[in-house]
Amino acid sequence: MKTFLHKLWQWRLWLIVGLAILGSIGTTIVMANSQQVVVQANVLNVRKGPGLAYDVTAQVNKGQRLTVIDERNEWYEVRLSETEVGWVASWLIKNTEVSATSNRIGLVNEGSTPLYVSNNTGAKQLKQLNAGDKVTVLYQEGDWLEVKYEDSVAWLLTSKVKLTDQVESTAKTTNTGDSSSLLTKSSNQVVIIDTDNTALREQPNAEATVVQKLAAKTALTYLKTVNQWYQVKTAAGKTGYVASWVVSIADKSTLDDTMPKIASNLAEATIVLDPGHGGNDVGALSQTSKYEKSYTLAVANVIENKLKDAGANVVMTRTDDSFVDLAPRAQAANKLKADAFISLHFDSSETANSATGTTTYFYHDNRDKKLAQVLNEQFNNLPLTNRGIEYGNFQVLRDNQRPAVLLELGYINNSKDFSYITKSSYYNKVANDIVIALTNYFK
Ligand SMILES: [Zn+2]
Repeated sequence: MKTFLHKLWQWRLWLIVGLAILGSIGTTIVMANSQQVVVQANVLNVRKGPGLAYDVTAQVNKGQRLTVIDERNEWYEVRLSETEVGWVASWLIKNTEVSATSNRIGLVNEGSTPLYVSNNTGAKQLKQLNAGDKVTVLYQEGDWLEVKYEDSVAWLLTSKVKLTDQVESTAKTTNTGDSSSLLTKSSNQVVIIDTDNTALREQPNAEATVVQKLAAKTALTYLKTVNQWYQVKTAAGKTGYVASWVVSIADKSTLDDTMPKIASNLAEATIVLDPGHGGNDVGALSQTSKYEKSYTLAVANVIENKLKDAGANVVMTRTDDSFVDLAPRAQAANKLKADAFISLHFDSSETANSATGTTTYFYHDNRDKKLAQVLNEQFNNLPLTNRGIEYGNFQVLRDNQRPAVLLELGYINNSKDFSYITKSSYYNKVANDIVIALTNYFK
């Protein structure tokens, strides 16, 4: 993980920028921790560039954490995943009825309706709209609606527009109004509510009577799709409609994954070992230009054998020098419903010999931290300094639905650390520690 420290410093820089921006806006994005923001609106469009003229590439939902990496003209560049970035409008994300349900389509209900450059009747008129003209509503502020106009925005009076249930259908993720992504098969799928207080309605439209308010993560049986709405049934047997853009779809089988069933002893456990890097991705370099990827596999092999001796079911994300992407590594643990996922790496500092020791990283506080703690405690008997446990924003941890940790087992560009990293006696010590720690962990 050669570049992690670099990234951390970049994030800190952007944090300062981000805090300044957020402080001045202070509405719907709040800081979650040092590198991230949390989306407060129910649905937020992510675009290719910092402006409305750019295509929508994805939508993000309330509660989702995003890393802010840049800011331009009141747009934030955010990181969606290791390889995916996009832009969100800082000024479109207030929690109003309209923006909360993504960009809805409105119909102008009166001829000669003026479209203004800003939200007051004295402002310059851009054009006059006819009755029946469609507008894409971005935002509602009191008597005014902000709508898309060419590559920019314009305003008109709320009273001149009848909002429809249609949403702009340009986004490509499942939680959009794009009808091609709507759920159609009921067989093995369930509808999951994204946020608290989501309305279950009598009819498939936003004005219909609310049957019940649903809490986040409520699972509902899918019955059918009507326009952009899902007819669903609650566990108590109540039937109603929820908007497709405020829910997620899950396989019945993956629901079990969110509640890890942990083995009660190591011999019953499935452990996924993840030797970092591989193939073209060589990892960090030693001072003698040796690759991190070789040593992560070497130590993984020793750990694998010792865990198997203890009776565990061990699955490796790679067993040779081949390239494996980050996503399938976490997926392996999710699919197998692994009891623990352990990613193996060696650290690197900016200048050689400037850092030493081992670090144990976790991402999910509730799921990973205990595993990180028991492992880290055991690592006190390793010959290298124990740098302790730390929060680490790594994709293999982030995407993991199972208890997961990432171990940095020494600095590859530190001469002393490297002398251990290359020795099988060190691998044996690490492997013994992991066996002891996991034996305690599963008790
Ligand atoms: Zn690494």
